[in-house]
Amino acid sequence: MEQCIFCQIVEGKIPSKKVYEDEHVLAFHDISPVAPTHVLVIPKRHIASLMEIAPEDHVLLGKIFSAIQTVSRELGLAEKGFRVVNNIGEDGGQTVHHIHFHVIGGRTLTWPPG
Ligand code: 5GP
Ligand code: ZN
Repeated sequence: MEQCIFCQIVEGKIPSKKVYEDEHVLAFHDISPVAPTHVLVIPKRHIASLMEIAPEDHVLLGKIFSAIQTVSRELGLAEKGFRVVNNIGEDGGQTVHHIHFHVIGGRTLTWPPG
């Protein structure tokens, strides 16, 4: 995916502040944080959104959620709590079409979202 911003981050063509990386998953600080901690957790392989997840990707999804656990503990979010958000499509507010999970915390978060 030549023009995908997150594929370019995976390839190192666009710099990012990485907080976790393994063979399949990358996590890095959001460029425009909405809370004291705001990290994006993504698969290295391009998948456009949750709606493009295939049955053979289920192991990868598990790895992503394991990475979310690791990141939340390492960044000190686990004790007080935090939020994981996945935006899908236009109404969902998805602006980058490479699936990503926002890990947001470090302050009390309100609900419901706007
Ligand atoms: P979405 O709105 O698609 O759920 O979230 C996309 C997120 O990607 C936004 O929070 C936005 O700030 C972040 N983002 C967009 N471009 C970049 C970038 O080049 N680097 C980083 N680190 N984050 C980005
Ligand atoms: Zn991509």
